[in-house]
Amino acid sequence: MKTIGMLGGMSWESTASYYKALNEGVKKSLGGLHSAKICMYSVDFDEIEKLQHQGNWSGAANILSKAAKSVEAGGADFLLICTNTMHKVAQEISSQISIPILHIADATAEKLLEDNINCVGLLGTKFTMEQDFYKGRLSENHNIQVLVPDADERKIVHNVIYSELCLGKVFESSRNEYLKIIDNLYAKGAQAIILGCTEIALLVQQQHTSVPLYDTTEIHAAEAVKHALS
Ligand code: GLU
Repeated sequence: MKTIGMLGGMSWESTASYYKALNEGVKKSLGGLHSAKICMYSVDFDEIEKLQHQGNWSGAANILSKAAKSVEAGGADFLLICTNTMHKVAQEISSQISIPILHIADATAEKLLEDNINCVGLLGTKFTMEQDFYKGRLSENHNIQVLVPDADERKIVHNVIYSELCLGKVFESSRNEYLKIIDNLYAKGAQAIILGCTEIALLVQQQHTSVPLYDTTEIHAAEAVKHALS
C-alpha cells in the first residue's frame, strides 16, 4: 500500500472528513483492521485565509510548498491538497516536490464523464467559482461546460463557507439558500452540481435534493484510496 500525503487544515473540518473517508475506503477494500497509511501536514488556516483574501497567493504557495516538502520527507508517495481553492497554487507546490499531486478537479472530471455529464454547476469559494484555475481545467482538459451562480449567489456561497462551514457551523437557513442556488443552476442547464469546496457536504447532501451532487471530498478521497492500493 502506498502512503497518502495530505496537506490539510483548510479547513480542519473537511480534513476530518478526508481522514475518515480514506480510512473507510481502505477498510472497505482490504477488510479487517486495515487502515490507510497517511502522512499529513495540517496548517493554521487563519494564516492561509488571510493571504487568500489579500490576494497574496505566492505567500500561501510558500507555506504550502514547505508543508508539502515535510509530507514528502515523511514518506508520502503522492500528495492530496485537501481543498479545491488551494489548487490555484498546485503548480507552484508541485515544482517543489518530486512526488505527484493527485489533482481534485481531474478526479472530479473523471467521475462526471463516467456518468456522461458534460454540463455542470459549480459551487465553491469565490476564488474557485470566478477564477480560471479550476473551471478552466474542467473545460479545457476535460471538455466539461461549467456554470456558476450569479454574483449575489456567489457571495452567499462564499460567505457561508468562511463564516460558517469552516467553523463547523451548519445552519438550515444556509442549506435552504444553497438548495435554491442549486435549483437555479439546474434550471440553467446544469445536469449535476460539483460541491467544489471540501466543506459543502457538511451542509448539503444528496438526501436534500434530487439534483445529482458530486462531492469533491468524497471523490478525491476515493481516488486516493484507489491510487494507494494500485
Ligand atoms: N475547503 C475549501 C475548498 O475546498 C475552502 C477553504 C480554502 O480556502 O481552502 O475550497
